[in-house]
Amino acid sequence: MRRVWMLFAVCVFAGSFTAAQDEDFSKVQIKVSKVAGNVYVLEGDGAGNIGASIGDDGIVIVDDQYAPLAEKVQAALKGITDKPVRFIINTHYHHDHTGGNAYFQKQAPIIAQDNVRKRLESGGAAGNGGSVHFEAKAAPKEALPILTFDHDVTVHLNGEDIRALYFPAGHTDGDSIIFFPHSNVVHMGDDFVTYGFPFIDVEGGGSIDGMIDAVTQVIFQLPQDVKVIPGHGAISSLDDMRAYLAMLKATRDVVQQALKEGKTLDQMKQVKLLDPWKKYNGDFVSADVFLETLYNSLTGQKTGKLIKHN
Ligand SMILES: [Zn+2]
Repeated sequence: MRRVWMLFAVCVFAGSFTAAQDEDFSKVQIKVSKVAGNVYVLEGDGAGNIGASIGDDGIVIVDDQYAPLAEKVQAALKGITDKPVRFIINTHYHHDHTGGNAYFQKQAPIIAQDNVRKRLESGGAAGNGGSVHFEAKAAPKEALPILTFDHDVTVHLNGEDIRALYFPAGHTDGDSIIFFPHSNVVHMGDDFVTYGFPFIDVEGGGSIDGMIDAVTQVIFQLPQDVKVIPGHGAISSLDDMRAYLAMLKATRDVVQQALKEGKTLDQMKQVKLLDPWKKYNGDFVSADVFLETLYNSLTGQKTGKLIKHN
């Protein structure tokens, strides 16, 4: 587990969503790698991966990490090209993906699904409906996406049709997955991560079934040799996503079955229901936390407010 991500996790468990912003990001370095075609990835010590389309028309970035890292992200982009940032797309509202919004929106408009703007604007609860819970502050006006869409939007730059497509109720209720068809790359946002069991923001309108649907559809639509940028973690393949999807489905099914048998959450924890998948056990999302997440998602126990959308 990388440092900043650990901080994020610690903050989550401490119930303080703002603490990460007070932490020392001075030692974090932004690592730039080419993914394929004209798409790059910028990684910053566990923060959300930034995807970047870079070409003659300028830069389109997907997500913008924590606020204190914005200048480093800018410097890393300058190391690739002198062209301007033209658009920023947010995959979802979490602050490790949108923290740089206010900084970057001075340069170019931010695009996101309607619910991303709503949640950033209102602030509110995020969590798994159980032991992971935190309160997000309302974001300042400068950080709110200027352009929003309901279902999908395409940015035609750099010889690419960069498409943001909405997948409802997966990691949150405002997730977009971003396709770069010419370069044969996809940025999954946090519907796909490689740090182990995923965090599903049940209180932010996420659900296990929505996450399974999103990953299933993407695998179905994309060519076998597509390069996958996860929300967190290293560049992956479609086979990596298949293994992840198999885990999501199998763990969902085993909890669904236990619910049918009338088992309580405590009973499921006691028999270590997710033990066969223990290699996914992480510092952030442990097997017990993921079990709670599945239980709350499948039984509709969420303490957060659902945002109404079309
Ligand atoms: Zn997230």
